[in-house]
Amino acid sequence: MCWGRGTVWGGAGRGGLGPVVLAGVLSALVAGCAQGGTTGDVEPEPSAKPSATGARTPRPTPQGPPGAPGALPRAGEVGPIRGEDGLPPVISSIPTKRKVVFLTIDDGWEQDPGFVKLVRDRRVPITAFAMRDAVEAKGSPDPAGGPGRYVGAGKWGYFRQLRDLHVPIENHTLTHPDLRRLPFDGQRREICGSAQVVGKEIGTRPALFRPPFGSYNTDTLRAARRCGMKAVLLWTATVQPGGKIAYQVPDKRLRPGDILLLHFRPNLAADFRVLIDKIRRRGFELGNLQAYLDASGGVRRAG
Ligand SMILES: [Zn+2]
Repeated sequence: MCWGRGTVWGGAGRGGLGPVVLAGVLSALVAGCAQGGTTGDVEPEPSAKPSATGARTPRPTPQGPPGAPGALPRAGEVGPIRGEDGLPPVISSIPTKRKVVFLTIDDGWEQDPGFVKLVRDRRVPITAFAMRDAVEAKGSPDPAGGPGRYVGAGKWGYFRQLRDLHVPIENHTLTHPDLRRLPFDGQRREICGSAQVVGKEIGTRPALFRPPFGSYNTDTLRAARRCGMKAVLLWTATVQPGGKIAYQVPDKRLRPGDILLLHFRPNLAADFRVLIDKIRRRGFELGNLQAYLDASGGVRRAG
C-alpha cells in the first residue's frame, strides 16, 4: 500500500522559516496510489484519523523499481516522515545522515534531447515535476525556468522517454499559478487536473506534488490529498545555469538529504554534467528519491 508513517522536515512555503517538524500520522486507510484514473479527484475528504498510539508498522525493505538508478537507503538509515492531521507531509529534505542528495527537475518548457541521453548513459536518478502548460508549450514560461524557446517542443513524448528510464513523472499543476491566491476549488482543479493529464499521458498517476514557487497553504494540502497526492515536495537548494548551486542555508554547503531543484532549460545536459561532478567531488551520492520516501514510510508508488 502507499503509506506508512513518519516525521517531516517541512518548509513554510515561500520565504519559509526553515525546517519545521510536522507531527501527525497519515492514515494508511486513505485511498492510495490510484493509477491512470479517469477523474481528477480520487479521494473523499478523509476520515483519516491520527493514530493515538503512534504504533509502528514494519517498514518495507527499501528498493527502487527494478533497474532504477541511484543510491538506495540502508536499513534504518532514513528517519520517519509523517504528515499532520492526515494531510500529506511537506518535505524539504530527506531525514538521513548519509551524504546523499536528490535531484528534481520542474516545468518542461525546454526539452533538451541530450539530457535524455545523459540520464540513460550515466544512470542519473532524477524526479520530474511536469507542468502541463510548459510541456504542451502554452502560456508564458516561468521566468525561473529561463527563457522559453520551446526547444524540442516534444510535448509528452519527451516525458515518456524519461519515464522509460525510470524517471517518475510527478505533479506541478496545469498552469503554474501561485496557489495561495486561489480558493480551495481552484487549487483542487489545478492539482487534480494535472494528476489526470499525467496519468493519461504517462500511464502512471503521480503521487508527489510540487507547488509552483513553493507557495502553498492548508487548502493546498487538502486539495493535494483530495487529488491522491501522497506528499508535497519542496527543496533545499536550486541549481542555476552552469550548474551553480544557490543554497537556501547560510553556510552554503550541501547537507545530507538535500533536495535540489532544477528546471528543464536549454543546455540542461551540459549543466548536469557540471553539477553531478561537483556533487561527487564533495563526497555526496545521488539518491533514489522514491526508495528513500518508501524507507521513511513515505510515498510508495503503485505499479
Ligand atoms: Zn515551476
